[in-house]
Amino acid sequence: MKTRCPVCGAELEVPETAQVFECPYCGTIFDTLKGSKVDQQHFYFSPTVENPYDYLMRFIERQYGVPSDLRENASYRKRVLHMIPVYFFHLRGAADVKALSRKYGYFTASIEEVDDIGIPAVDNPVAQLLEDYPFPLRGKRFLDEKAVKSGVFYKPTLSPSYAETIARRRLENALISEASSMAEQIVSVNYRVFKVDLKGLVHYPVWEIEYGYRGNIFKGYVDGVTGTVIWTEHPLAAKSRALQLALGGFFIALGSLTAITVVASLGKEGGLAAIFSLIAGLAGAFPLLTRSIQVKVKASEIRELKA
Ligand SMILES: [Zn+2]
Repeated sequence: MKTRCPVCGAELEVPETAQVFECPYCGTIFDTLKGSKVDQQHFYFSPTVENPYDYLMRFIERQYGVPSDLRENASYRKRVLHMIPVYFFHLRGAADVKALSRKYGYFTASIEEVDDIGIPAVDNPVAQLLEDYPFPLRGKRFLDEKAVKSGVFYKPTLSPSYAETIARRRLENALISEASSMAEQIVSVNYRVFKVDLKGLVHYPVWEIEYGYRGNIFKGYVDGVTGTVIWTEHPLAAKSRALQLALGGFFIALGSLTAITVVASLGKEGGLAAIFSLIAGLAGAFPLLTRSIQVKVKASEIRELKA
């Protein structure tokens, strides 16, 4: 049976026996007979990752400067499963952009954005880790008793309309930034399509892990569906701390040496250049020095973190 997804409009081949069907393109679950989104819009992802500590350790072991005896001497302390409510949206936008570029003069171009995003429905430290998070699209199920009892279950405290405001802003920003990348000056943006569809409330599983190592306690958060390490702390080996300290010192020495050479050869005129090379040396050293005095370092599998 051929039908169309009520949200993204994709043409789909649906088995005759299926009463509800999940669109493979945007993840919407809809009634195949009525051709509309199902009324019950509360879903969850099942926490299929059962050994989050292993996922966490395997990721940490790949990080730079981790003590070689970590796995051996780390002690697994506790784990908590958080079921975080997230509003899922399907975004679709298209616009005609009139722009002015030095190279081409005035021109018009058409841009398009399609995206699926999730916006946490609560504000707590775990939910904050899920801002801008690349959620999986498929595999959600209708919420049931089992899901509610599977972990710490949070009720949404932020309204769908609040989340929608954020979703609209995201789509707008995505379109504007795509437009801005085409030319130096944007004359006008004319939206042809601007659709923000709430696909439902989805409870998403996140494991919180705690482990100890040589008298310190470290935390980590692991995606309960994919096993991705969202955020974690880990120790740094004393040896690599010393190496980074030495490298930091080297950058400062190099900067100072350049400064001295410049002043020696150019005299007073070299002053400014000397200051710059000193600053460059300090800038190169700073992240290494701050890392070297930390016993805990942060890492993430999905984004670059600042030291
Ligand atoms: Zn769809």
